[in-house]
Amino acid sequence: MKPTHIEHIGIAVKNLDEAIAYYEKLLGEKCYSVEEVAEQKVRTAFFKIGQTKIELLEGTSDDSPISKFLEKNPHGGVQHIAFAVDDLQQALDEAAADGIQLIDKTPRKGAEGLNIAFLHPKSTFGVLTELCEDPNN
Ligand code: ZN
Repeated sequence: MKPTHIEHIGIAVKNLDEAIAYYEKLLGEKCYSVEEVAEQKVRTAFFKIGQTKIELLEGTSDDSPISKFLEKNPHGGVQHIAFAVDDLQQALDEAAADGIQLIDKTPRKGAEGLNIAFLHPKSTFGVLTELCEDPNN
């Protein structure tokens, strides 16, 4: 596996609108996309800095992974890091062959039309790690 770049950093927030306002000031640019990903029970907002995005995540239900994260981290915080790869299935197969525990054995649909899959934090030194493939590339 050789990721091409950090695709995004996922940040869990309690209140998406307040977090958007903060990041718009911090980064001096407007949030370019707000999207609900029903499958993951999140509402997301995106900013772009160079090649890398900031993904703000707000849970849409109490059993959302973001809601669970906020129970442990009441102020919110960095929830995951996402690396861009050219071939997601191949990257997952390589990770599995290296003994890394996968949350997703096959790609699924994420925000922004990307195919995504997660590696388990138990195998990644505590960092929830997402791999992303842009099917349009
Ligand atoms: Zn993500």
